[in-house]
Amino acid sequence: MPPASVRPASVRPAPVRPVRVRFAPSPTGRLHVGNVRTALVNWLFARAYGGSFLLRFDDTDAERSRPEYVEAIRADLRWLGLAWDEEAFQSARAARHAEVVASLKADGRLYACYETPDELEYKRRRQRARGLPPIYDRAGLALSDDERASLEAEGRRPHWRLKLDHADIRWDDLVRGPCHYDAAHLSDPVLVREDGTLLYTLPSVVDDIDMGISHVIRGEDHVVNTAVQIQLCRVLGGTPPTFAHLSLMTDAGGGGLSKRLGSLSVGDLRDEGLEPLAVSALLARLGTSDDIQAVESLDALVAGFDLSHFGRAAPKFDPADLSRLNARVLHGMPYETARPRLTALKADGGAAFWDAVRGNLERFADAAEWHAVAFGDIVPRLGAPEDAGFLRTALEALPEETPDAPWDGQTWAAWTGALKAATGRKGKGLFMPLRLALTGQAKGPEMAALLPLMGRARAADRLRRAAADPSSLA
Ligand code: GLU
Repeated sequence: MPPASVRPASVRPAPVRPVRVRFAPSPTGRLHVGNVRTALVNWLFARAYGGSFLLRFDDTDAERSRPEYVEAIRADLRWLGLAWDEEAFQSARAARHAEVVASLKADGRLYACYETPDELEYKRRRQRARGLPPIYDRAGLALSDDERASLEAEGRRPHWRLKLDHADIRWDDLVRGPCHYDAAHLSDPVLVREDGTLLYTLPSVVDDIDMGISHVIRGEDHVVNTAVQIQLCRVLGGTPPTFAHLSLMTDAGGGGLSKRLGSLSVGDLRDEGLEPLAVSALLARLGTSDDIQAVESLDALVAGFDLSHFGRAAPKFDPADLSRLNARVLHGMPYETARPRLTALKADGGAAFWDAVRGNLERFADAAEWHAVAFGDIVPRLGAPEDAGFLRTALEALPEETPDAPWDGQTWAAWTGALKAATGRKGKGLFMPLRLALTGQAKGPEMAALLPLMGRARAADRLRRAAADPSSLA
């Protein structure tokens, strides 16, 4: 991973307009990692510039949009800690969209077309066969009133296309740099379907204008839409927002994000026990020149955020990075943050317990296992039969625990030091049988920290059971 190159916030060039960004999911499914990245980058941008972050549900597709997905998206954003300043539904603005459609029709900017999907496909195939780009031929625009009337008499209903000005469309993309499209190379986009419902383009542009959106930050799969939207925005008398298109993530091998990874939802990540902060730390910096590292809060991500650090190369999304970051987030988590969650897990063993075990957690829920090691019941293990005698010796040498001489961080060293002198064992041969007997596991937190937590009675009992029970052989 490249070294950190976080610029101080003061070096960020100030955007010329007050920052107002939107995250505009269609509530037709759960948020997946790609959406989350878009949401997060918009949120960070708003926070970094003291702007507003709007949650806008692009729910004009009445058939596929579902209230339960609205709720799920809200819950996912809350889980990630991405609070929004305002919420809007495109469906609530249908009257405004209809008004704009009517005015575009009146201006001759929207024109009726009658081709069926099959007819359009046939045209495209013919164009390709002749080596021409499959651009709509504007046949609809050439129809006379009589021709239209007779098509309608046949029972055909029109869909409506925006007549593009055949000019260069340019913008300065905050990630991709200067971009331009020759509108003559684009098909006039369909804005209204036969049944009168709207495709995404028009509501999006109208709402971006009406809601004063200053910056549109989204995936590069929208780049061509952007060219059309900029022109439509100008036709409607608006000032196009500034655009930034993030490169799409690929999987670790560099191929497009597989279906499995691409559809990985926030719910899946949560069910896997991942920390929201690990998800954010990865997705906020993937594709940037910044070091990907665990952070203690979203504020730390805001402080280091700079959109200009995003590059054009496709970043690799690797779940293994997520696991690593997750562990690091837990290792750095203060007790006060962990406490309510430990309580919910019935695993709150106090600050000393948390400090002893957090460095060994991969998932937060692992704390419950260590809680049992420290305070509950486990199955002690005997590594090898010849260790039984050693464990009996260890039991005899176990220091007393009295109110005057409580067990503390020195007890382990004192005990094992004495055992080393008495038995000649050292290193792994000395420590491993004790760890296996006392924790039931070959790896784990520092024994010096665990031993005082479990206390003498529990430790003695485990040594006795491990030494005696042949069924506890590993
Ligand atoms: N609803 C669109 C989507 O989810 C929004 C795209 C945009 O940001 O304009 O792809």
